[in-house]
Amino acid sequence: GDYLLGRIVAVHRELYKVICNSGERDAVLKASIYHHGETGEIFPTVGDFVLIDYNASGSSRIVKTLERKSYFSRKDPDVGRGEQVVAANFDYVFILMSLNHDFNLKRLERYLAASWQSGGIPVVVLTKADLTPNYEDLVKQVADTAIGVEVIVISSKTGFGLENLNKFIQPGKTIVCLGSSGVGKSSLVNALLGADCMKTSGIREEDSKGHHTTTHRQLLFLENGAMLIDTPGMRELGMWDITTGLGETFVDIEGLIQQCKFSDCTHHNEPGCAINEALINGDLLPTRWQSYLKLQKEAAYSANKALYFQ
Ligand code: GDP
Ligand code: ZN
Repeated sequence: GDYLLGRIVAVHRELYKVICNSGERDAVLKASIYHHGETGEIFPTVGDFVLIDYNASGSSRIVKTLERKSYFSRKDPDVGRGEQVVAANFDYVFILMSLNHDFNLKRLERYLAASWQSGGIPVVVLTKADLTPNYEDLVKQVADTAIGVEVIVISSKTGFGLENLNKFIQPGKTIVCLGSSGVGKSSLVNALLGADCMKTSGIREEDSKGHHTTTHRQLLFLENGAMLIDTPGMRELGMWDITTGLGETFVDIEGLIQQCKFSDCTHHNEPGCAINEALINGDLLPTRWQSYLKLQKEAAYSANKALYFQ
């Protein structure tokens, strides 16, 4: 038949809101496709592109989730393969860290690895600049940690620095915000949306029993055509299993390892070890090297665990 292509803007239990060229539609999953069969279809989530079997009189059904270019997932033993995807098809991951109480470089490394792993491009957004007058040294520490990643200082309260986010907030681009509670995610989303849009972000509707419910829209459209994913799912991520993403997070270290004399160098006492040299001459901080080793160990463990449970 004829399928409509759409993008999921909200998920409320089994009900999906899908935006298509012709407008917004309610849809459910086509059970014969999603709930049966050996492997099953990939359960869709906010940001997913899907095909819907449009039905003018009844409810429309989602028949396919298109391949994702990026996604974040959390562990959930009750769904699919023990993994629930909470956001999909974003271009940039804004990693928010506040310049005052939330400053934590170890956590930033994990967020960076998880972001690279997701398939999105990380951008570090340092928030609450108005509360931290002398932040230059903190910004330098972040720049030394987030190598190859843009670092932007903002204040959602005063509006300071927000214009530096414009190069990412472009028509057709999708952004998701990451960061621990209290860093200022909602404040940034509100600042980007402006007050007018916020008023319309709740979708009022009647459920099957005629009750009024409000589904919070989770894919938000900015005036210029950029989109923001704002879903509670992102808050529940906690700390993921990091398996890949370390190569991009520690490009400096990966580059040094390439220069070790022996290809199987263990970076202990071998002659011609570029890591040892960099540690001695100060090009590589011992704390950064320790972080890398620790996260690598974790990644190897996660990868083994994933194999074991396959
Ligand atoms: P979320 O939990 O990450 O969504 O954080 P919120 O956006 O709710 O912000 C947490 C608290 O920090 C709130 O009291 C905000 O008013 C405050 N806040 C957020 N951004 C800024 C900022 O740029 N400057 C100041 N001074 N306070 C901020
Ligand atoms: Zn070495």
